[in-house]
Amino acid sequence: MDTRLMELLVCPVCKGPLEHDRDAHELICKADRLAYPIREGIPVMLESEARPLDAPAPAPTDAGAA
Ligand SMILES: [Zn+2]
Repeated sequence: MDTRLMELLVCPVCKGPLEHDRDAHELICKADRLAYPIREGIPVMLESEARPLDAPAPAPTDAGAA
């Protein structure tokens, strides 16, 4: 992943800077509390695809919900 490319990316909602979470493969907007996924090395800069940071993480053991 090209770090310089990441620095050019801004949040599509608030146009603010994003923080690259290398472990989660997400781009974080702390202002909106949204995490944009990076899929196959391509940042998905869509609000509809973003994960709300306030929402609880999906429980990996919750097999019954599916
Ligand atoms: Zn934002």
